[in-house]
Order: sequence, then C-alpha cells, then structure tokens
Amino acid sequence: MSMHTKTIKELSTLLQNKEISATELATHFLDRIEKSELNAFLHVDRALTLAQAAEADARIAAGTATPLTGVPIAHKDIFVTQGWRSTAGSKMLANYVSPFDATVVQKFNAAGMVTLGKLNCDEFAMGSANENSAFGPVKNPWDHAAVPGGSSGGSAAAVAARLAPGVTGTDTGGSIRQPAAFCGITGIKPTYGRVSRFGMIAFASSLDQGGPMAQTAEDCALLLNAMAGFDERDSTSLTPEQGGVEEDFGRDLNQPLAGLRIGVPKEYFGEGLAADVEAAVRAALAKYVELGATLVDISLPNTALSIPAYYMIAPAEASSNLSRFDGVRFGHRADGYKDLQDMYKKTRAEGFGPEVQRRIMVGTYVLCHGYYDAYYLKAQRIRRLIAQDFEAVLSGPNAVCDVIMGPVAPTVAWDLGSKSDPVANYLADIYTLSTSLAGLPGMSIPCGFGQGDKNGKRPVGLQIIGNYFAEAKLLNVAHQFQQATEWHKQAPSGI
Ligand code: GLN
Repeated sequence: MSMHTKTIKELSTLLQNKEISATELATHFLDRIEKSELNAFLHVDRALTLAQAAEADARIAAGTATPLTGVPIAHKDIFVTQGWRSTAGSKMLANYVSPFDATVVQKFNAAGMVTLGKLNCDEFAMGSANENSAFGPVKNPWDHAAVPGGSSGGSAAAVAARLAPGVTGTDTGGSIRQPAAFCGITGIKPTYGRVSRFGMIAFASSLDQGGPMAQTAEDCALLLNAMAGFDERDSTSLTPEQGGVEEDFGRDLNQPLAGLRIGVPKEYFGEGLAADVEAAVRAALAKYVELGATLVDISLPNTALSIPAYYMIAPAEASSNLSRFDGVRFGHRADGYKDLQDMYKKTRAEGFGPEVQRRIMVGTYVLCHGYYDAYYLKAQRIRRLIAQDFEAVLSGPNAVCDVIMGPVAPTVAWDLGSKSDPVANYLADIYTLSTSLAGLPGMSIPCGFGQGDKNGKRPVGLQIIGNYFAEAKLLNVAHQFQQATEWHKQAPSGI
C-alpha cells in the first residue's frame, strides 16, 4: 500500500470519498513509525491515536468533516499535548505531561486531524542538527550517516521518510527551513505573530514561530489555514487590526509568475557557500526565469551581523524563559541536595544538556548590568538594521523585488558527529537568521541534490523570503515551481 506517499491534498480526497478510513490511515502510519529506525518519534500512543481516528471517521460519516479531518499529523515535541508527553527534547521534562493542549494542537484537533505522536527535536529547539536532543540524534532518511538538520529534525525526517504526511515545526532562527532543506521537504515559517505561541515551549519569545512542514507547498497552505490566527492567550499574537486575520493561504496558488521580481542577495552567494548547493540554487533560479520571473541583484548588507546579534538575543531570551525550570514546579528535580540553592543548582545541572547550559550562561552574561549596553542593546540595534535591509528592497514604492531567493544553508546535511564545535553550528545558520530577526516569512522547498564531501545523495533547499504577511504569495511562488519540477516528489530509497 502506498498511502504513505500521498500528499495531504490526495489523502483528504480519499477520506472524503470514503475510499479509505481515518482508522486505516492512522494504523498504516503507526505501523511504519513502529518499524522506523530514524529516532524521529519520541512519544507514540496507539490507543490515543486510534481514538482520534475513530472520531474522525464518525465525523466524515456524519458529513461534518473539514478538508483535514482524518488526515494524520505529528507535532514537534515543543508543542504541549494532553496525553502524549511533552519534553522539548530535554531531560528536564522527560516525564512531563501537559494538562492542556497548545493552541496549534487544539486547532488541528478541532479540524479533525489525527495525531500520530510527538517528534524529536533539539533540546528546547536549540540547535542546527538535532544532535542536542537528550533522547539521541535523528538520522537523515536520505543518508543515515547524515544529520536531518535542526532543531525540527524529527519533523523533517518524519515527512521525508513518509512517516507522516504533515507535521508541525518551530523556527526561531531557521529550524523549519533548514531541516526541511536537509531532508528534501517543504516548510514555511510564517510572519512572526501569525501562529500562536501558547503552549509552544518557549526558547526565544521574540523570534519563536510555529509553522507547517509537508511534501508540498499546497499541503503547507492547507495546514497553515488551520494553524494561523489571533490568539488572545499569546500576548505577541497579531490581532486582526495588526494583520493577524484568518485567510486562505492557498488562495493565490494558481497565479502565474510572469512579472515576478526575484531579489538575489549577493551576501547569500559569497564565500562559504558550497559549490553543490550553489549549483542547485542557481538552476532553480534559472527555472524561475523560464517561468516568467526576472532576477534582480540586491544587497542585504548586514547579513553577516545576524550571527552575533542572534546568538546574543536568542540566548538572552532563553536564559529568562528557562528560569522557570527550577525543580519546584516543572519536571526534573535532583535527588539529594543540601538546601534550596543546592537543589536549584543540581536540578539545572542534571536536567539541562551542554548546549542549553551554554546558552543560559551567554544569555545571563549579556543581560548583566555593565554588559547590557555593550552586548544586548547593541544586538537589538543590529536587529533593527537587519530589518531595514529587507524593508529597503521589499517595501513601499521603491521596492525592487517581490520575493528574495537564495540558499537555506551553506552546505548540504553534514555527517552525524562531525560538527562538535558549537560555533561551527552557529555559522551554518547564516542564511536563515536574518529573516527571523526581521520577523519575515520564509520557506524552504527542495530544488536538487548535492553530495557534500561524500558520495551520498543529500537534498538542497531553495529559500524564498517575502514581505510581512506575504505567505500566500510565497506559497504560490513555491507551488508554481513544484508544478514545473519533480524535486518535491523524490523520496529516499526504499520508501
Ligand atoms: N540553529 C538556531 C539555534 O540553534 C536556530 C534554532 C531554531 O530555529 N529553533 O538557535
């Protein structure tokens, strides 16, 4: 049976036409997950999943189904779920079961989607390779020696290995786009504030944004329709007045690309970009020209500063957000301790992994009295300059382009265990961080393969960045490419 290779769109039709049942579909995916050796799933509960599937079948029979009813989905383990454990990839929350569902989970449940389980990720979403999970790394389905990217590595691997037709991810500095690129799937990080952060375990609140990942842009539009919208329980959720309106993100999917101006930033094609990635991205740009678009050379001069700025702002916010994990209210508590201070220290030393501890230290340092102006405030100023770089080319009557395109990452997926230096991981985020700092929407779509320094076949992603609220446009720009190419249809061997 090849139900697992179908897109959400196709599965939706089969379900509505009663050619398959939600229960059959859920069982088929659960069986695949059980056999998988990728370590993509952290928590699976057959009974919970099948209960949701039975509800979906009843809804389809009663004629009250939505297009997503009965379609399976899995959630990054950063979204809290009633029933399934919610660990954020951390020992700190190893046994944590949330008493409520994240807004995003609630919305998918309300649409009738069937949850397959929770997906592995870097601890508290800090990482670029999914090697920082307390529950072990995830393997890249294309090449088991390679990382799947991070921090939503379990999410991307699950879609690539066809263990789920769609998943959720979160992107703070690239964690939807980069693993999507490394695993050859499609993912979109929406405009900051579009998707509720309520029940999304916080890393860096001013950057964190949830989004969908799937095989196609069309599927991402379907998922984003259910996922986005104002939420009064998230204080940074965009209100309707601010533009956080419910919309059909698939409404533009059939717009032709004639006249589309694509900005090509010179900073995204400089030193450090691997030849195999550059070749695939340039070929994709040429395809867009064939489809009627024009290429415009642009400059985003502050791109290089995104790394130092992000790696101060994100840890600063993380150090504050993670102070709640103190052994008193949540999760892990050390066994033997002398007094309260000792309990805090031992609990946090045992519960947090090395990368999380490193970020708490950096974050606390840059927020210290005496260093605040020199580091944190300066980083915030750079953040403003980075946003202005984008504004200059994308906004207003002087805009020179409608979207921006370039690589998602400088290389294809690297080998598991090969990049142990944290700074080497940080540098690989060069093309994704500035979009996050500016709060802009960005996508990754598969556009070819490279080899890295090996003989394996490792996917390359094309990044598409747009102005605030331009998700529908981005999804169409991606969809048109996917109508004209086959990259998104490729699957790892043996699928
Ligand atoms: N790689 C970046 C980091 O480690 C981004 C992570 C993310 O987007 N969650 O912080």
